[in-house]
Amino acid sequence: MTDSNANMPDAKGYFGEYGGQIIPPQLIDIMNDINDAYDKVSQTAGFQDELQELNADYVGRPSPVYFAKRLSEKVGGARIFLKREDLNHTGAHKINHCIGEALLAKYMGKTKVIAETGAGQHGVALATACALVGIDCEIHMGEVDIAKEHPNVTKMKILGCKLVPVSRGTRTLKDAVDSAFEAYLEDPVNYIYAIGSVVGPHPFPKIVRDFQSIVGKEAREQFLAKENKLPDVLIACVGGGSNAIGLFTAFLDDAEVKMIGVEPAGKGLDTPDHAATLTLGTKGALHGFECYNIQDKEGNPLPVYSIASGLDYPGVGPQHCYLKDIKRVNYEAVDDKACLDAFIKLSRLEGIIPALESAHAVAHAMKIAKTMSKEETILVNLSGRGDKDADFVADYLSL
Ligand SMILES: *Cc1c(COP(=O)(O)O)cnc(C)c1O
Repeated sequence: MTDSNANMPDAKGYFGEYGGQIIPPQLIDIMNDINDAYDKVSQTAGFQDELQELNADYVGRPSPVYFAKRLSEKVGGARIFLKREDLNHTGAHKINHCIGEALLAKYMGKTKVIAETGAGQHGVALATACALVGIDCEIHMGEVDIAKEHPNVTKMKILGCKLVPVSRGTRTLKDAVDSAFEAYLEDPVNYIYAIGSVVGPHPFPKIVRDFQSIVGKEAREQFLAKENKLPDVLIACVGGGSNAIGLFTAFLDDAEVKMIGVEPAGKGLDTPDHAATLTLGTKGALHGFECYNIQDKEGNPLPVYSIASGLDYPGVGPQHCYLKDIKRVNYEAVDDKACLDAFIKLSRLEGIIPALESAHAVAHAMKIAKTMSKEETILVNLSGRGDKDADFVADYLSL
């Protein structure tokens, strides 16, 4: 696919008809300043060298591409490979963009990084990156989530970030976004907002995508070195879409490589308990940008659900919406049951306990591998490890 629009947003931040800046006029200048600073700073040798060194010596990059032999044999059909983002420091892909964002803040001379967190995964990754870079960090989190996500709350405190409990509204992610954004607007000159996925107003989807694209860049080289050809299919789970676009970006021009984004079908696409935004959503604006989203007839976001808390977002990154419309990427949905089955199978056949988010991608790989030949290959982005989910799954399955 040589359509350059598939890879770069236009000057107003649109991928096709998705993205943009659906924000109050006074914020547009602020966002455009961030965009200009990012375009300049990210091209300097100083920034690139520092980021590369931290990726290598701190995150532990490159993460391996691993052939899951026993899983592949058990399933039958195509061979399944895993890009091991679960082996990164802090255990997931989120550290890739958090270090980029913290470093960008430092180079831009900002004094504080502000963000929201839902289950706490973005909060922990960002607090880690800010400790590393040496910049103040303030995380807003709903009181309901604080009560539920004890280990992540504790980690954020240990890492030295300021945790702001949010007591308004439903006291969950949406209210945390509003609260964090208000705090940011108190001093947008000295503060910077650090978003947790390829979502939000332009330029955030582009910035986060760029920092995550190292995943696919490495994987493409590693796979060629191993197999002398490209994978036939790429698979990644999609919440906001950062780990998926991180893997896909380097392969967008390889027309022979199929790509599949996997959304959570939760308790079933025929129930309200899912977060299959691209599969069942409609176009609309959310959190400052245009995308497919799960909404009512008036355009208000509806509650969404997934067994994997990192996937229950009612919108999705604008580039994914565009890639769906031009049919460069297919989006499928996997339910809780198939996710749990993949979680256990990968654990018991390979000794790899995946994050429940990543287990959605593994489940879809297992489903289609059967229909493919032994000569074909699938590369799955294993976005994170499942330590955070182990107790929950053991209880849920009465292990
Ligand atoms: C947060 C998270 C996701 C979902 O976020 P994306 O932006 O869609 O990648 C997926 N996997 C893991 C392990 C996560 O922590």
